Amino acid sequence: MSNNHVALVTGGTRGIGAAICKHLKSAGNQVIANYVGNDQRAAAFSEENDIPVMKFDVANFEACQKAIAHTINTYGPISILVNNAGITRDGTLLKMSAENWQDVIDTNLGSCFNMCKAIFPSMKEAGFGRIVNVGSINGQAGQYGQVNYAAAKSGIHGFTKALAQEGARFGVNVNAIAPGYVDTDMVAAVPDEVLKKIIAKIPVGRLGIADDIARGVAFLTADEASFITGSTLSINGGQHMY
Ligand code: NDP
Repeated sequence: MSNNHVALVTGGTRGIGAAICKHLKSAGNQVIANYVGNDQRAAAFSEENDIPVMKFDVANFEACQKAIAHTINTYGPISILVNNAGITRDGTLLKMSAENWQDVIDTNLGSCFNMCKAIFPSMKEAGFGRIVNVGSINGQAGQYGQVNYAAAKSGIHGFTKALAQEGARFGVNVNAIAPGYVDTDMVAAVPDEVLKKIIAKIPVGRLGIADDIARGVAFLTADEASFITGSTLSINGGQHMY
């Protein structure tokens, strides 16, 4: 698989996003990684991998439009967009604050609108684009204590299929990846006893690693993936066969 495109990865400085950036760079793309607050981690990632980083909040519509205009001015039109940034703010419905509901919806789902709104027109004009939205097994199957996250991720799967229909005629392919449980900072927040129960339900018998997901993203963003659009690629060790 060979590519030579400008690729923007949201939440690209650690975890799954960092692995995605490295795989897209190895495939020959000019990669830019976004992040929101962890400056030290971003600087270390940038230096180690020779990948430029951009700090902006994907939940903020204006910030996204500004950052994308700047990226296009600096690097040229963006042909690959990976909407990967995401957060959790878990709690049962009865305990969940309106703020934790809204933050998760805005960061995980609103971000897809904010980013695609700014990038889709130039992809359409160029007659080429690859958008991959990172959903979740918990958007497919639901999860106790995650009405906010499950709703946002489930929304991503619908968003993907709708935008895929708008992009198909213009060579803009839109797909989703639905990771299962992957060993990153996000999963480190899950209590040990809960994690043990989760691993017991994964047929392959282990958590995923970030590279497992990044390989799938690299596949979907390749030039050769021209006939794949509106799909969800589930990478979950067999935990949810959908
Ligand atoms: P991490 O928590 O390890 O990393 C999150 C990344 O997103 C960081 O780079 C962070 O930046 C960035 N980020 C968070 N909020 C924003 C924001 N508002 N604007 C811009 N960047 C932001 O997450 P993972 O690697 O675990 O997860 C990546 C994606 O995969 C998420 O969408 C997640 O929901 C999804 N996923 C993860 C699973 C897992 O098991 N880990 C399972 C299924 C899906 P900073 O460092 O500055 O905070």
